[in-house]
Amino acid sequence: MSVRRVVVAGGGAMGSAAAWRLAARGDEVTLLERFWPGHDRGSSYGTSRIFRLAYTDPFYADLTVRALSLWQQLEEATGRRILTLTGAVDHGPAAAIEALHESLTRLGRPAERLVPEQVAERWPGLRADTSALYHPEAGRLHADESVAAFQQAARDRGADIRHGARVTGLSVQGDGVRVRIEGQDDIRADAVVVAVGSWTAGLLANGSDGPVRSLPALRVTQEQPAHFPATDPLSWPSFIHHPGAALPAVGATADGVYGLGSVDGVKAGFHGIGPVVDPDRRDRTPDPETLRALAVYAERWLPGVQYTAPEPLTCLYTTTKQHDFIADRQGPVTVLGGCSGHAFKFAPVLGELAAALVHGQPGPDRFTLDRP
Ligand SMILES: Cc1cc2nc3c(=O)[nH]c(=O)nc-3n(C[C@H](O)[C@H](O)[C@H](O)COP(=O)(O)OP(=O)(O)OC[C@H]3O[C@@H](n4cnc5c(N)ncnc54)[C@H](O)[C@@H]3O)c2cc1C
Repeated sequence: MSVRRVVVAGGGAMGSAAAWRLAARGDEVTLLERFWPGHDRGSSYGTSRIFRLAYTDPFYADLTVRALSLWQQLEEATGRRILTLTGAVDHGPAAAIEALHESLTRLGRPAERLVPEQVAERWPGLRADTSALYHPEAGRLHADESVAAFQQAARDRGADIRHGARVTGLSVQGDGVRVRIEGQDDIRADAVVVAVGSWTAGLLANGSDGPVRSLPALRVTQEQPAHFPATDPLSWPSFIHHPGAALPAVGATADGVYGLGSVDGVKAGFHGIGPVVDPDRRDRTPDPETLRALAVYAERWLPGVQYTAPEPLTCLYTTTKQHDFIADRQGPVTVLGGCSGHAFKFAPVLGELAAALVHGQPGPDRFTLDRP
């Protein structure tokens, strides 16, 4: 298909990845990001995100393999170090660990079953629950570097990357779309990719002139992991503690605990337990209860960190009912979002999907806007 004039709204991981893949196809791309480079208002900032292949759902497991190859391509294209493969340790109930092992075996990827004593020997900072699994093709993505790299790669292919440019509304006009920008001239484009994270429902409902017929329900929450001081945090594997054995599957630990090393220390967090917030009016004061619960967790399960000295941070999740992402197009409008707290690792794949959708290819059924 011929070159298209495409506007990408939102310069977090998803929008920046989409800009890269669209520019790589030769499209004329303008990326509009409301805040400044590296800002901390959304979901993609900071120094670490987990990359892992271990998903029990074959659909997502297959996407991780494509993501790995695209992350490596991005590193080559930009000369930036983004992904460090430190490996990952999953631990918890034997059934959950076995299911992950089977998935990695199906993918033909290396993985090793371990008992807690072996984990303690290899990573003395980490205490494992009943059963454990190590896979080496996992580790740490540098979040800020990733976003900067996507934008650099897009710019190298001719994209116009603008910060301080807030999209205030969209109007579908004929085959194209008019994009309104605060304090700037409108842009008329053949297509728009909406990748505004926690602001998706707001932008598509207000100030926009019916650009999509339907949007799955999105729950915006403020999550609060913390960095704990540790010796040599960069040598840590990423880890997921699955609940149901020695970790109770209720309350803050219902969906498990994740963590990884970074330049800021060892990050640990409960998955998806934060309060519902308005992304423009949230109180970023750390919640002392969550912080205390994380310190209690760290005292028992992370002997290698200083559990008395956590440094909290806040970040947004935008979650769909089934935790499936959105990547779908209606007319000239493609929506990328519903990242549900686990999409960073998939960012280049979602960017690739967005570019394919803009060019008329269908996306996966699970990512549609029209879902029950
Ligand atoms: C604490 C935490 C830990 C996580 N850990 C992991 C992990 O280990 N592994 C993993 O795979 N995933 C993880 N995730 C999830 C992952 O980080 C997110 O899914 C991902 O960053 C979402 O990116 P996004 O581009 O959709 O959203 P955002 O990064 O929020 O980007 C949206 C952008 O749109 C901009 N914007 C909004 N409105 C407008 C407008 N009107 N005009 C122009 N721009 C606008 C915003 O300023 C923002 O920059 C984590 C998330 C959090 C919060």
